[in-house]
Formats: sequence, C-alpha cells, structure tokens
Amino acid sequence: MMDNNQDKLEVVKTTQKAVEQMKIDDIEEAPDQAYATFQCQYCGQEKIVAGSIVYDGFVLCNDCVLLAEVGFALKKFDNINTLLDSMEDKRFETLYSRIFDQEKEENENNSNNN
Ligand SMILES: [Zn+2]
Repeated sequence: MMDNNQDKLEVVKTTQKAVEQMKIDDIEEAPDQAYATFQCQYCGQEKIVAGSIVYDGFVLCNDCVLLAEVGFALKKFDNINTLLDSMEDKRFETLYSRIFDQEKEENENNSNNN
C-alpha cells in the first residue's frame, strides 16, 4: 500500500533542502528585505519575507512553500488553487505531518546507528 514511502521521503528531503536554500539565498541577496514580515496568505501567520514565493498571486511563507513544493513533487496537486482548497481541511496537514514524522524517525534511527 505504502510501498513507495522511501521514494516519498527522498522527495521530501530534496524539496526541504531546495526550499531552505531559497530562504538562505534571499537572506544573502537582500538581508534588509529578507527579515521584513508579511502575513502569509495560506497559514495567515506573520512570517519573514525570505523564502516566500508568489504562486498565482498568492504569497506563501517559506513553511507553506515547503508544503506546496512537497505536494507538487509528490503530485498531490498540480496548481496552487488546489493546494489552497485542499489545505482548508486537515487531511493534508495530517498527511504531511505523518511524512515528516517518518522522516524524523528515520533520522533518529540513522544517528543511533552512527
Ligand atoms: Zn504560511
């Protein structure tokens, strides 16, 4: 059923790195602007500009960009409106936290082995 979980985790890790890198790049390029805050149009929280992306006119914070990019990468949806609609209910949040929890467990297991 979940036989390709390992592949999904790889996708999540790669995406996490890329999204984190966007934030780092923004901070390097324009530190003054990077730490300005705005209200994210998905999570509604006050977030720093660094790492935010505009999708079809919606400005998403770096955390939400990660959710969006993971969703795109895993082909959960192919446009941001689907994301915004689907994320209104909590199924996706549950799905993602499950993926992230699995990754955390895996990381912990790895560090135990070392
Ligand atoms: Zn957000």
